[in-house]
Amino acid sequence: MKDLVIVGGGPAGLSAGIYAVRSGLDVVLYERGAPGGAILNTEKIENYPGFPGGIGGPELVSRFEEHARDLGLKIETNEVFEVIPAEKHYRLRLRNGEIATRTVLIATGTGPKPLGVEGEERLRGRGVSYCAICDGAFFRDQTVAVIGGGDAAVEEAHFLTKFASKVYLVHRRDALRAKKAIQDRALANKKIIPLWSSVVEEIKGEDAVEEIMVKNLKTGEVKPVKVDGVFVYVGVKPNSYIVENLVETENGFIVTDVEMMTSRPGILAAGDIRKTPLRQVITAAADGALAAITAEKYISNLEN
Ligand SMILES: Cc1cc2nc3c(=O)[nH]c(=O)nc-3n(C[C@H](O)[C@H](O)[C@H](O)COP(=O)(O)OP(=O)(O)OC[C@H]3O[C@@H](n4cnc5c(N)ncnc54)[C@H](O)[C@@H]3O)c2cc1C
Repeated sequence: MKDLVIVGGGPAGLSAGIYAVRSGLDVVLYERGAPGGAILNTEKIENYPGFPGGIGGPELVSRFEEHARDLGLKIETNEVFEVIPAEKHYRLRLRNGEIATRTVLIATGTGPKPLGVEGEERLRGRGVSYCAICDGAFFRDQTVAVIGGGDAAVEEAHFLTKFASKVYLVHRRDALRAKKAIQDRALANKKIIPLWSSVVEEIKGEDAVEEIMVKNLKTGEVKPVKVDGVFVYVGVKPNSYIVENLVETENGFIVTDVEMMTSRPGILAAGDIRKTPLRQVITAAADGALAAITAEKYISNLEN
């Protein structure tokens, strides 16, 4: 029986791993993909303390991983499908087998929220993307549209100007939600053309994206805009399916106390998956640290 199973190898899970091994817990981390999480898809992190001038997302998180492995954290490729409560412990159903553990930390982060318009699903991977850093280079000297107005949308629109000749930024309001510094940089970029008060109603194309139908919310007019790619950044959806109906959630985000314990003792949550006012690397790392310490306290209380 493990003391702690960490589900998810992003900044929250890896930080929890560092604190857990240093607390002497018998711990394993399961990651379904490559360790690193969401910042693997981020070109540059400019707000993580200790790196003036910024650091590449993949580089930052590979340091997290190296640090955790150096301390002895076991990181395995596996997906957790379900958490099943048992007597004073939990059973986890994995892609390969099952494991029993006293505590489990859900650090599964979020995934992109789809736009939900016609053509999106059909043309996914054929011009429709949710990751500029993964797919941006396919659109060299082409025209793309970025949908959204928050930090991720505006940052990625700016990033895409490295490749694309023109980037439409389609936003439903007449002002962006992104932080001012991010907005100023993007709006000063001549390749970025904002389409204010506009929504995409349909993505069209035979075998690949050819155009989007854009509705102006002020005039009601719908017109086609020729694009080769569409990057969707309209929010995120939490990966909380493995504890569905087991712990309290709000809009799918897991509710915890200040020590990262959920409504069910022994199940903890950390990072972007949590109901929290800020979803960043620094908050995910802090949550992970706290969660590991709480797991250790919980286990010693169980033993006494
Ligand atoms: C485009 C973009 C730009 C960003 N820019 C910044 C920035 O500049 N600065 C900043 O601080 N933050 C930034 N962020 C936010 C930052 O990436 C997140 O806050 C951080 O990665 C959250 O860490 P996490 O560990 O909670 O989740 P994630 O990083 O999402 O990691 C979760 C991991 O869990 C794994 N997983 C999910 N379900 C399972 C399962 N069932 N079994 C096994 N593994 C599973 C996933 O594969 C993933 O690797 C950005 C995010 C995006 C998308």
